[in-house]
Parts: sequence; C-alpha cells; structure tokens
Amino acid sequence: MTYQRILLKLSGEALMGQQQYGIDAERLMQYATEIKAVATQGIQVAVVIGGGNIFRGVQAEHFGLDRVQGDYMGMLATVINSMALQSALEKMDVPTRLLSGLTIQRVCEPYIRRRAVRHLEKGRVVIFGAGIGSPYFTTDSAASLRAIEIEADVVLKGTRVNGIYTADPEKDPTATRYAEITFEEVMAKNLNVMDMTAFTLCKENNLPIIVFDMNTPGNLERLIAGESLGTLVTMGGPGQTSPAGIPTPLLDPKHSGLRPLVGSQPEQA
Ligand code: UDP
Repeated sequence: MTYQRILLKLSGEALMGQQQYGIDAERLMQYATEIKAVATQGIQVAVVIGGGNIFRGVQAEHFGLDRVQGDYMGMLATVINSMALQSALEKMDVPTRLLSGLTIQRVCEPYIRRRAVRHLEKGRVVIFGAGIGSPYFTTDSAASLRAIEIEADVVLKGTRVNGIYTADPEKDPTATRYAEITFEEVMAKNLNVMDMTAFTLCKENNLPIIVFDMNTPGNLERLIAGESLGTLVTMGGPGQTSPAGIPTPLLDPKHSGLRPLVGSQPEQA
C-alpha cells in the first residue's frame, strides 16, 4: 500500500464511453468497480467527476447563453454524474457521500471540509459534486483544491491516455511518455496536464499528480499498489521520490499535514 488518501479526478467526457453524449452504463460500472477495489483495501478515496459529457460552460456561447449561466449548468452536470457514480457504488455496497459545492439539499450534503474528512476517516467514498461552486473554474481546479483541503496524498487524474507525452501521441508517432516529470518541466515545455489554475494549485502546495489511463481495468489498483504507471508530476529534486518512484511529500514543510506514505521510507535530503 502506498497512499492512504487519494483524490481521483475523472472526466465527464470519459463517462460517455463510445456514446456521443451522457453516461455509458458499462463505463460507469467499470469506474465504480475500480474505486471499490481500492476503497475496500482501506484507502480513503475522494472523487471529483467532470461534466463534459453533459454540458460545459464554454458551450453556452454557441447557444447564445450567458457564460456564467453555462458554468452553473456545467456544475449541475457534474452533480448528475456524481449521483450516478454514487448510485453505482452503493449498488456494490460501497458506502458513499456526495458533497456539493452548490447547495442542493434534497440530493446531497453541502461541502464542509471537516465533514468530508470525517466521512473519509469512516471509510466512505466521498464524491465532490458541482466543482468548487463558482463559475470560470473547471473540475480539475476543484480536484486540486479539494485534494489540498482534505490533505490528500496525491491527485490521480484518470484520462484515456496513459500519461504525459513529449508531444500529442495521436498526432506524432515519435512522441514518448514521461514516467516522471517536474512541475517546472511541465511548465517550461508547455505540456498539457491540467488547466493552469489547477496545475498551479498543485505546484504551490507540492501536491503530486499522477496522470494515468483510467479506462484500462485494474490500473487504479495497480497504481495504488505502487506500480509505475502513467506519469508522476512532482517538485523533483532530492527526496522527492522513493526508489520505487513513489513521491514522499512528507518532506515538504509547506505540506506538513500530509501523512507518511505506508511502505515507503522518505529519503533524507
Ligand atoms: N464548472 C464551473 N466551476 C467549477 C467546476 C466546473 O463553472 O468549479 C463548470 C464549467 O463550465 C465546466 C463544467 O462545469 O466546463 C464541467 O466541468 P469540466 O469541464 O471540468 O468537466 P470535464 O472536462 O472534466 O468533463
């Protein structure tokens, strides 16, 4: 076991599976199965899901709508996805709580940091809906912010590609994948990991990010078991990674609330 508390970011778009819109039942069940597999090992799991399979704020202009209104529609879309995931997990007997950045009291609890942490400590999967509850943000930013607030050990960004590449692998056949990269390098090379707000939040709080392929069954569990999958983004430098490539954020005094990583001894810088 490597991490004790993780924040898993899933894109809404990935929930579509092969469809053009909405939620693919098979994909939803796959994600729930993956989450269950790690939650039942005692890992505290928080999840943020996007809403791109239903609505994104930037689409509002195409409809002649107000951007802010569109963003709120996008946030509500994330609540729909979160409710679907909650239900899928509960069908598998996984206790969950849905905490929303927008108050929708009939269907979810309001986001309260202490409550979120308590739920995690009690072994409930916590799903954060409605992003951060403010327009002009993305669910990537919500994932970074909530991860910092709950003192998660890592943000796991589940995508359809298996990491960060030197170039777009779908366009450039010579593109190669980074196993590890620093925040600085990502910025210098202008690589697309998350939007800048989300990325900066992680960088400034020394919160490692792992970009990995969530659509390959078993990958989440493999990651948690310490396998080097996808791309790990850290501050770099001495003491930032264990011999197994596992980040040791404990060494950063700025992020002093982080718990030690089970099974990996932090190297002394
Ligand atoms: N959104 C927002 N504030 C937030 C999170 C999300 O306004 O804190 C809106 C925004 O319009 C965004 C949409 O919700 O486009 C759906 O989220 P996102 O695009 O991040 O979903 P994903 O790309 O992960 O499917």
